[in-house]
Amino acid sequence: MVERRIVAVVGGGIVGVSCALMLAREGHRVTVIEAGRVGHGCSWGNGAQYNAGSSFPMAYPGVMWRALGWLCDRNGPVRLAPWELPRTLPWLVHFLSTGRPKAWETAYGALHALNAPCATLYRDMLGDTNWNRLFRPNGALHVWRDSSLGELDHLVEGLRSRHGVSFERVDARQLRELEPSLSVDYQRGIFFPDSGHVNSPPTLVEGLMERAAGLGAALLTARVLAIQPSTEGLTLQTSAGSHHCDATVIAAGIASRDLAKSLGISLSLASERGYHITLPENSSTISRPVTDAASAFVATPLQEGLRIVGIAEFAAPDAPRDERQSSKLQTCAQMMLPDLAIDKVTDWMGVRPSTPDSLPIIGPHPKHASILFATGHGHMGISGAPMTAAIISDLVAGRTPRLSCAPYRIR
Ligand SMILES: Cc1cc2nc3c(=O)[nH]c(=O)nc-3n(C[C@H](O)[C@H](O)[C@H](O)COP(=O)(O)OP(=O)(O)OC[C@H]3O[C@@H](n4cnc5c(N)ncnc54)[C@H](O)[C@@H]3O)c2cc1C
Repeated sequence: MVERRIVAVVGGGIVGVSCALMLAREGHRVTVIEAGRVGHGCSWGNGAQYNAGSSFPMAYPGVMWRALGWLCDRNGPVRLAPWELPRTLPWLVHFLSTGRPKAWETAYGALHALNAPCATLYRDMLGDTNWNRLFRPNGALHVWRDSSLGELDHLVEGLRSRHGVSFERVDARQLRELEPSLSVDYQRGIFFPDSGHVNSPPTLVEGLMERAAGLGAALLTARVLAIQPSTEGLTLQTSAGSHHCDATVIAAGIASRDLAKSLGISLSLASERGYHITLPENSSTISRPVTDAASAFVATPLQEGLRIVGIAEFAAPDAPRDERQSSKLQTCAQMMLPDLAIDKVTDWMGVRPSTPDSLPIIGPHPKHASILFATGHGHMGISGAPMTAAIISDLVAGRTPRLSCAPYRIR
């Protein structure tokens, strides 16, 4: 039987609320401490895609040349603020080393193990009715304008096959059958039948929080300022006073970096800012997430409208937004879906907590076993959150985690 513990989860994003729900299900007394509103951080405006089959590390063989090309292209999807270079340089070096074939394959294996069961775990966490309301298991498409497969395509397909991922190559005609609105310029694609999307990212986070609350989890609106370990447990100093607990889970997205620093740990997390535009009147233009693989942007049909996401902007989390990034996404949308009528547009920027090898950080503080980290999900927080929460619940219960934490250790 699991010993009941008092657990504080810092951060009410997709990762924090998933942890809260898994912990509440085991009978722990859980409080989610959220500085703002639940689900209104990075988890609010993402591309809503869950990808059992396309969970690739952002670095891959040959990424250096592609990244250099993108960095030099003012209209490209990657931007590095010059003043962020000193802080980001060690991260970039590690990122490029993950692109070596062996490191890339290892990272892929660990990412796949974490992400592949996400749809099943969400169904279990939410219950059938909520799952059916929120999830759209229509698959996902990656599309290309060039017709010939390169060396990397073959490497990627080989890796997917070895890990049992379902995917189908589709030609230009099949692409049009799947998504009639796509530009005729697209020549080929890959269809992932086991992937899909959530119809509204904030509603997913709220739905998980409601389930956790139904099992007794509390929500405290406050900012955690400091975490103090002592022989009696932990004291969290918050903007609403002090909060005592037996264990804490740091799931504060990019802010986990600062909390870790105050606990003597330097996490390899970059602030990788992404943007979206949402076209409220175009939600039925496509029926599943479509990724333009060469330009690295994704279109997803949501309850909120048609959403286009992309851009990797390495800049301070609170630096002003760059309006040009939203314009780039608008251009991408028009090139992908030429008949799109763009009348109303809303835009947004969110901060991905990104590790250089794309693997999240899940596990205990090396000196204080009751302080656990659950962060660094980068581009794949929706896919990675449920298994992260399962591992965290194993660790809090003192069980051997169902998935070894070794690849996700603190680094
Ligand atoms: C443009 C874009 C598109 C994306 N598309 C996808 C996609 O299609 N699929 C996918 O899986 N992922 C996608 N992602 C990534 C995904 O959104 C993130 O991986 C995920 O949201 C991270 O969740 P989180 O819970 O770690 O962080 P967050 O959602 O940022 O939550 C952290 C929370 O912690 C709170 N907090 C911070 N500091 C404190 C403190 N000191 N005290 C209390 N609370 C605190 C914050 O207020 C925040 O609510 C995308 C991201 C972006 C930017």
